[in-house]
Amino acid sequence: MAKNLQSVRGMRDILPDQSSSWQFIEDTARKLFNSYGYKELRTPIIEPTELFKRSIGDATDIIEKEMYSFEDRNGDSLTLRPEGTAGCVRAGMQHGLLHNKQQRIWYIGPMFRHERPQKGRYRGFYQAGIETYGIATPDIDAEVIAIAARFWKLLGFKNVHLEINSLGSNEARQSYREVLIEYFSAHHDQLDEDSQRRLHKNPLRILDTKNPKMKELVSNAPDLLDYLDEESKNHFEELKQRLDKMGIAYQVNSRLVRGIDYYNRTVFEWITDDLGAQGTICAGGRYDGLVKQLGGRETPACGFGIGLDRLQLLVEEQGLDQSNNNPHFYLVMAGKDAELTGVTLAESLRNTIPSLRLLSNGGAGSFKTQLKRADNSRADYALILGENEVDEGNITIKPLRNKLAISEQQSISQTELNEFISTVLDLDY
Ligand code: ATP
Ligand code: MG
Repeated sequence: MAKNLQSVRGMRDILPDQSSSWQFIEDTARKLFNSYGYKELRTPIIEPTELFKRSIGDATDIIEKEMYSFEDRNGDSLTLRPEGTAGCVRAGMQHGLLHNKQQRIWYIGPMFRHERPQKGRYRGFYQAGIETYGIATPDIDAEVIAIAARFWKLLGFKNVHLEINSLGSNEARQSYREVLIEYFSAHHDQLDEDSQRRLHKNPLRILDTKNPKMKELVSNAPDLLDYLDEESKNHFEELKQRLDKMGIAYQVNSRLVRGIDYYNRTVFEWITDDLGAQGTICAGGRYDGLVKQLGGRETPACGFGIGLDRLQLLVEEQGLDQSNNNPHFYLVMAGKDAELTGVTLAESLRNTIPSLRLLSNGGAGSFKTQLKRADNSRADYALILGENEVDEGNITIKPLRNKLAISEQQSISQTELNEFISTVLDLDY
């Protein structure tokens, strides 16, 4: 027998019964970003491979081992986007959104990285992010962080903490780099293979290692904050001052460098204690050099990316999604006449009550079958049109669950249905 087709390893289906928590998270994100005056930018999920190579940096996990790259039929090398920032910058430059302007934008969508799948880490996953362009001052770093803080509040998260750091200017990082190379070279035998390879290419990345055996070596390394330039120091101080004013708690973590090369000055991560090793739910910072690096003009930029799969795990585990998409009513129709009456009634209800979730029986079936379907649909009530009801111009309402506004089955005139249902919706939801 032919082997059943399966999804690609690490790429998940989100099933109809799981999508409610996703919608809760995404709807909240969209409303939140819009409420700060940000606008959505949608870019293709496939970009030229070159774009990511030139922006993310050679000695990074993404470029070294995680990209889904392929040749298309023209022989061009394309890549499924591993993150959202590079595409935003590309689109911003291509459409002249960045030059001499401020921009505040957001995105939501799928990303792809070839990683070892585990809880909170997938090969196909979703990120939401914001990006700001044209604002060099720390007020925008603070705003970006505040938007994330508000997101956790709206979702009802507890146990999320903020870590911040400053990577300084390019020059400051350059001199710190030399110091780091010297330090790690002196302990060469303690470096794992990845770190040995990165020693001269990108020594800061060694600080971001996930290898527990290197913890001590990394924690004794020289401190980045001691090498900050004066301007970056002030920028960092002003950011902290603003966070204090907004009542946003943070820890300064001088080992925080982020896994992508384009960052300078502010970097930050929001981390939860409730997801084990995959605890970072949001990561971002300033990337003033990227636009120029990709061929545009010098443009200050700051943003973050949020791992929505990890948010969804938290929402699920902590029971934070109070909404559901189950139907309020299931319309049972016994016989052709009832179906014709039913279709008219159902459409009229939908015309007048836009928030109504009404599932109409399809494919006929006996009363018993239809009521069973009603129950399986998890609707709260059945609306029943049988032969009697059609003859008498009535409709029967049958509660399918406990604790509803209507606890007894009852029949009303079809002409009263609209008003009746509006009242029920008000009482129950
Ligand atoms: P990690 O250290 O966990 O690999 P990262 O530094 O590679 O994270 P970023 O590139 O900063 O992650 O992406 C921002 C956020 O996107 C992460 O904090 C995380 O929440 C989420 N994320 C990244 N990779 C994955 C993945 N493979 N599956 C699910 N979520 C992911
Ligand atoms: Mg990673």
